Amino acid sequence: MNLDTLRATVAGPVLLPGDPGYADELATYNLTVVHTPAVVVGARTAADVQAAVRYAAGANLPVAILGAGHGSSVSDEGAVLITTRRLTGLVIDKEARTARVEAGVRWAEFIEEANKAGLAGLNGSSPTVTVVSYTLGGGLGPFGRKYGYAADHVTALDVVTADGELRHVTAASEPDLFWALRGGKGNFGVVIAIEFTLFPIPAFYGGGIFFPGELAADVLHLFQEWTQDLPEEMSASVGLLHLPPLPFVPEPLRDRLVAHLRITYLGSPSEGAVLVQPFRELGTPIIDAVGILPYAAIASVHNDPVEPLPLYEHGALLRELPKEAVDTVLKFAGPGSASPLVLAEIRHMGGALSRAPEVPNAVGNRDETLYNVFLVAAGGPPAAAALHGYEQELIDALAPWSTGRRYLNFMFAGDAAPGAAALAFAPESYERLTGIKRRFDPANLFRINHNIAPAA
Ligand SMILES: Cc1cc2nc3c(=O)[nH]c(=O)nc-3n(C[C@H](O)[C@H](O)[C@H](O)COP(=O)(O)OP(=O)(O)OC[C@H]3O[C@@H](n4cnc5c(N)ncnc54)[C@H](O)[C@@H]3O)c2cc1C
Repeated sequence: MNLDTLRATVAGPVLLPGDPGYADELATYNLTVVHTPAVVVGARTAADVQAAVRYAAGANLPVAILGAGHGSSVSDEGAVLITTRRLTGLVIDKEARTARVEAGVRWAEFIEEANKAGLAGLNGSSPTVTVVSYTLGGGLGPFGRKYGYAADHVTALDVVTADGELRHVTAASEPDLFWALRGGKGNFGVVIAIEFTLFPIPAFYGGGIFFPGELAADVLHLFQEWTQDLPEEMSASVGLLHLPPLPFVPEPLRDRLVAHLRITYLGSPSEGAVLVQPFRELGTPIIDAVGILPYAAIASVHNDPVEPLPLYEHGALLRELPKEAVDTVLKFAGPGSASPLVLAEIRHMGGALSRAPEVPNAVGNRDETLYNVFLVAAGGPPAAAALHGYEQELIDALAPWSTGRRYLNFMFAGDAAPGAAALAFAPESYERLTGIKRRFDPANLFRINHNIAPAA
C-alpha cells in the first residue's frame, strides 16, 4: 500500500509533517515529549487502524500509538503514528455489569456514564488518561486493594495485530495473546476496544486531606504505622506536593509544601471515619475533603492536574516501608529539602493487588510489592538532567527497601532503555511475553513503547 492508497482507504485524516492539522493531531499531555512521526493517521474506525498498520508494515516503518499522551516513552520520529481520540464508543450494560470501551475514551467520560448506572470501574488517579492504555499497563487505582488491577477484570479485547488482522481476543479464543495484552501494554497491537466487568459502587467514603508542610513528617510517619494493619476495603496513598503558583492550583495549596492523604474506603462510612480519625487528630488541615462521595467524584481523591504539563516521572516498588524509608522520602522531599519535585507519592499496595487474578495475566511484581513510590518533577528541557538526577538519587536512597522492580504504568520516557521493560515482569513471564511477541509481531513493528523485543 502506498500513501495515496492509505489516504483513499482511511476515513480519518492522514497527515504528513507540514500538513495543516499535523501539529494539532500530535497534541499531548506530557509536554516534554515531542512527537515527530513520518505519517500520522487519525483513526476513526478499526479498518483505519488496519490500513495504517498494513501501510507501516509494507513501508518497514514502526507503529506508534497516541491515546491521551500521558505515557509516551521513546521517540516516534519517522514512525507511523496512530491517534485513537476518534474511537469514542462507550457502552455500559447495567444489567450485565459490563462495559465496552474504545481506545479514545478517557476515564472522565467513563466515570460520568458509569455513575449514572450506579456502577464503577477501576480507574486510576488521573481522569484524563485513556481507559485502554491505562488498563493495558495494569491499571492501579483507588479501589485496588479491594479489587486488584483493572487488567484483572478485562474479559475481551479487539486488537489489530502486526499482520493487519482485527482479532476479538478472549481467554478461550487466543489464550496467549489474552494473557499478554493484559499487562504487556502496547507491544502486541493496537487495541480498538476492551470489555470489562463493573462494580456496584455508586458512592464511597473517601477523598483527600491536605495538611500543611509543618505536619508532613507526622503525616508520613502515621501513614507508615497505619498501613501495617489495614482492611482491604481501605486503599490509601500519601503525597508530598509542592504545586506551582498556577491558576488551576487552588489558592491555599499554591507554591508551598503540602502533605496530601488520599483514601477510599469501601466499607461503612462510620468505620471509614474511625479509621481516618488518627490523621484528623494530627493537627489542623488546610482542606479536609473526606466524606461520602459519589463515584462521579472519584478523581477528586487524588486531584491530579488535568492540564498538559512538562513532566519527568520516576518510580520504585518497595517490599516494606520502615520508619527509615519514610525518613529518606522526607529528607529528599520534605520540609527544608531542596526538592524540585511537584509530587513524591507513596501508595499502599497489598490486598487484591498482591494476588493472582482469576484469569492469569502478565501484570507483574505482585506478591513482593507492598508500596509503590511515584515521583513527578516539572520543568522545561534544560532542567531535564537535573530533575531526573534528583529523582534517581531518591530512588537509589530507597534501595534497601526496594524490590528493584518496576510497575509498567509508572515507567515513562526516562525509563525506556532497551530491555528496561523486563523489570515490570517476573522473569518467566517476560520470557513468555517475548515468545508471544515473536508469534504476533516478529518484526517488532510495535516498538515505540517500553519494548518487549521478540525472542531470538
Ligand atoms: C499524572 C499521571 C497520573 C497517573 N496515575 C496513574 C494511576 O493512578 N495508575 C496507573 O496505573 N497509571 C497511572 N498513570 C500512568 C498512565 O496510566 C499511563 O501512562 C497510561 O499509559 C496513559 O494513558 P494515555 O492514554 O495518556 O497513554 P499514551 O501516552 O497516549 O500512550 C502510552 C502508551 O500506551 C500504549 N497505548 C496507548 N493506546 C493504546 C492502544 N489503543 N492499544 C495499544 N497500546 C496503546 C502505547 O504503547 C503508547 O505508547 C498516570 C500518569 C500520569 C501522567
